[in-house]
Amino acid sequence: MSVKVCKFGGTSMADGNVIKNVKKIIESDSARKFIVVSAPGKRYSGDVKVTDLLYACHEKIMSEGSANGSFSAVRARYENIVNELGLNFDINSVLDETEKAIERECDEDFTASRGEYLCARIMAEALGAKFIDAADVIFFKENGALDGTRSYKAVAEALSRVKLAVFPGFYGTGANGKVKTFSRGGSDISGAIVARAVGASLYENWTDVSGFLACDPRIVDSPKCIKTISYKELRELSYMGANVLHNESIFPVRKANIPVQIKNTFRPEDEGTSILPTSRYIPSGKTVTGIAGKKNFTVIFIEKSLMNSEIGFICKVLDVLAKEKVSIEHIPSGIDTMSLVIESAELDNFKLERILEGIKNAVEPDIIRVIENIALIATVGHGMSSSVGTSARLFNAIASAKINIKMIDQGSSELNIIVGVKNDDYEKCIRAIYGEFFG
Ligand code: ADP
Ligand code: ASP
Ligand code: MG
Repeated sequence: MSVKVCKFGGTSMADGNVIKNVKKIIESDSARKFIVVSAPGKRYSGDVKVTDLLYACHEKIMSEGSANGSFSAVRARYENIVNELGLNFDINSVLDETEKAIERECDEDFTASRGEYLCARIMAEALGAKFIDAADVIFFKENGALDGTRSYKAVAEALSRVKLAVFPGFYGTGANGKVKTFSRGGSDISGAIVARAVGASLYENWTDVSGFLACDPRIVDSPKCIKTISYKELRELSYMGANVLHNESIFPVRKANIPVQIKNTFRPEDEGTSILPTSRYIPSGKTVTGIAGKKNFTVIFIEKSLMNSEIGFICKVLDVLAKEKVSIEHIPSGIDTMSLVIESAELDNFKLERILEGIKNAVEPDIIRVIENIALIATVGHGMSSSVGTSARLFNAIASAKINIKMIDQGSSELNIIVGVKNDDYEKCIRAIYGEFFG
């Protein structure tokens, strides 16, 4: 029998009325057996997500020793949800216990995880389903990575012979036995883990847009929806900022070839986007599948004559960054030049100065220069390698918009071309590329 794992995001859990729709979606298909939920998100623009309220609560506990009223906004959200759903569930006792526990634990991850925990408790009640605490079945290793083997086994055991279950997303148990969260947006990963553990026929990811769009809908009005996309393309786009699906959520399902379907809770009849293993993916015929990007990178440009013939040059440069524990996003290079593209947030506390000094000492470059406030934009598609003139079209479109390209990196897979532009040109550049390939 086919089994679907369904993850519902924050907007799908935002209030009782939306949750009633979610309930209808689940009950309309008996294959929808295992449900993963996020914490309630924004109900309207300007509203605050429960997870953000909880992070603020933690700050208060750290500075004042107690939540001092900051938990009341969280309390109100859940009381409303239970009232709107008309549930006969004593949420106040659960909230009292939770407030005491977050003050006692005084731990950021634990506090943040309560958003999903409380939401899953209510959802289990609303559906008459079994609640399964993610802390009992999802485990991390000492180095912070997911302990897949242990987690898949524990989830599968917990779900054997269970007809309908609800899991909180976003957290599990760390190697020290304490609750540990994934990075923000991590409930998508929890859903993928459950899908892998039960060998689901489909992982449905329910959100507030009708699929993976060709670019960020906050930049281009109603961008085209991508009907099918490969795991590889999705990984590139989500890593580069298309955060509709957490970029790490692809790993558990990819190994088991489980397709993912992105669906809209508010328009369930819309087809959405199918994310398929590269082997099952039928190219759309389009040159470009999608465009995504991120702001705030720093580029360190290094020039030295005969750099290429100096054995170990790159290694010495990278060693300086490794010693500072800084990860590098891209390393575009020429014959006598190389650039290091680094997320600016990694370079706080005089790290940049130390890195520049370290590189000067290690390789004695002719020129070393720093370019700040750079945005990276990735244009992604399997079709790009087979169609002639794609880069010319891309660069022409950017030039016609009078945008200066600061850096170019074409991945060796030919699946993407990444350009670096000034932060201020970011939105304009995305619109220009979108216009060229989708307009
Ligand atoms: P959820 O709470 O359901 O996990 P998210 O807010 O994490 O939802 O992701 C959905 C949001 O991602 C959309 O509302 C949209 O604003 C944003 N987004 C950014 N890039 C894209 C894209 N390429 N396609 C679709 N949505 C995108
Ligand atoms: N609630 C968490 C967040 O806001 C996790 C998630 O929504 O996936 O990041
Ligand atoms: Mg999300």
